[in-house]
Amino acid sequence: MYNYSEKEYEIFSRLFILNEYSEENLKILSKIKIGIVGIGGIGCPLSQYLVSSGVKKLLLVDGDIIEKSNLNRQILFNLNDIGQKKVDVAKHKLKLINTECKIDIIDVNVSSSNLNSLNDCNIIVDATDDWFTSKLLNEYCIKNSINFLYSSALRHDLQIILFNNKNKDNHICLNCIFPNRNDVDLPRCSVVGISGISAGLAGLVAAQKIINFSLNLRDETNIMTISDGKNLNFDNIIIKSKDDCYLNST
Ligand SMILES: [Zn+2]
Repeated sequence: MYNYSEKEYEIFSRLFILNEYSEENLKILSKIKIGIVGIGGIGCPLSQYLVSSGVKKLLLVDGDIIEKSNLNRQILFNLNDIGQKKVDVAKHKLKLINTECKIDIIDVNVSSSNLNSLNDCNIIVDATDDWFTSKLLNEYCIKNSINFLYSSALRHDLQIILFNNKNKDNHICLNCIFPNRNDVDLPRCSVVGISGISAGLAGLVAAQKIINFSLNLRDETNIMTISDGKNLNFDNIIIKSKDDCYLNST
């Protein structure tokens, strides 16, 4: 049976011409579920481009309402949406791209009490700018063997990395990279600023990594992509495990 309807084949007709979108890969693409925590400057373009790339199942998690100061980078929203819940408006806008995609929403911020709602996701994305949430998601994903993508954008700088948590023999996680940041008060975009373009680039890099990983187009595991969005320099850094990481139980 078809994984995509005739209408969807029309929507994605230019995309599905590409060699990477074989019959076999379309089966995978139509089934994967991506959880996005934080529908902000990264989560907006990420969710848009995943739906535009044929992903049919998303879970969006965010408790915030839309404010004017979001509009420079949160491109699913406009002035008419001020005061509404981000996840409600995002779901509505994403369904306008493909009515047949399934968008689940959780309209409160992620916490240890609702984390389990994410357990059927193939990949969980941290698109928040909150280090406590990043640590929480990192630990949850390791313990439940769920693949985890960490993304951040601040000023013009962006960094994105995908951890393959199904590979128990080779532990690498967010804590291996940033072991000393546990109690550090990180700079926030409300204080130091953020370029909407750089946040958008981070969302696009994250989307491509998710497609690459899910369809096995390129090995994305443990490669941190960093960029100065202004100068358009991109680097891919191979990350190594930290022997004494407290989350490494193997
Ligand atoms: Zn670790």
